[in-house]
Amino acid sequence: SVSENQGRPLPRYARVNTIKTTVEDAIDYLKRDGFTYQGQAKSLEDLGQLSGKNFCSDLHLPDLLVFSSNTDLHAHFLYQAGHIILQDKASCLPAYLLSPPPGAHVIDACAAPGNKTSHLAARMSNRGKLFAFDLDPKRLSTMSTLLLRAGVTCQELAHMDFLKVNPQDPKYSQVEYILLDPSCSGSGIVGRLNELTDNPASSSEERLQALARFQQLCLAHALRFPCLKRLVYSTCSLHSQENEDVVAACMQQHEKSFRLVALLPEWPERGRVPLTQCLRASQSKMLTNGFFVAMLEKKDSEEKAQT
Ligand code: SAM
Repeated sequence: SVSENQGRPLPRYARVNTIKTTVEDAIDYLKRDGFTYQGQAKSLEDLGQLSGKNFCSDLHLPDLLVFSSNTDLHAHFLYQAGHIILQDKASCLPAYLLSPPPGAHVIDACAAPGNKTSHLAARMSNRGKLFAFDLDPKRLSTMSTLLLRAGVTCQELAHMDFLKVNPQDPKYSQVEYILLDPSCSGSGIVGRLNELTDNPASSSEERLQALARFQQLCLAHALRFPCLKRLVYSTCSLHSQENEDVVAACMQQHEKSFRLVALLPEWPERGRVPLTQCLRASQSKMLTNGFFVAMLEKKDSEEKAQT
């Protein structure tokens, strides 16, 4: 059965691709096209109440526009031309929070189909180096198309197992930012046939454990890049085994050199205690797909001395 969690359909989100346009120009275009702009939302209720051709700016994320749940922009010029990216609000958190500056060297470890990669490139003003890896050739080719449409040029795509990427390779010696969005159960995706609850074979604790082991390996591997300053870990899973537990296990090993960053104080839905620095998102509370985000930051030498 299709997940009916809370019944309420999600609003539609569109991220403005600042490589190709500005938020103001996108809003103007939509207004001329018959949409009614309601300004910036003041509360989550404003997002839930959108109807017809009304739209607004999001209250948490600056480049995000929000439309009523029955809006379909796939055929729209702004989407076709890569001026907007149709991306759920929660999945815009990782690149927004990692926030690599223009010119930075960045790794997107499990990157395809590349919505977060294109968002990272926008954060970098398309300048610097964006190394993007994925194991799946089909998803990588989708990603090339998507990045081309979005006007991204700072990327270097590689068909590679991230766990086999050598952190000591001089190529990566300036990498300071890593986005890690590894394969997960997908249990947060609203409206997806939920395998974990519907199919006993794949709902097994074993499957979750295997995913969690993979996620932990990826996270530990990412922390081996010698110049890493900041890392964002995210999943679209609701299971703490894939979220807080992965991050907590990693922090136990690395608390001397990394700390967890307290993210967006204005975001009400937090990681499970004690990892309240992290964010969660859910259909019922945040009007998004289910999601988890953690950010780790390298301690400076003074901080290290104190621990
Ligand atoms: N970040 C992507 C985005 O925003 O569009 C979504 C990534 S998806 C959650 C996880 C991806 O990890 C899949 O495309 C999968 O092929 C890839 N993957 C799985 N194992 C991998 C590995 N060992 N190395 C690199 N990529 C891997």
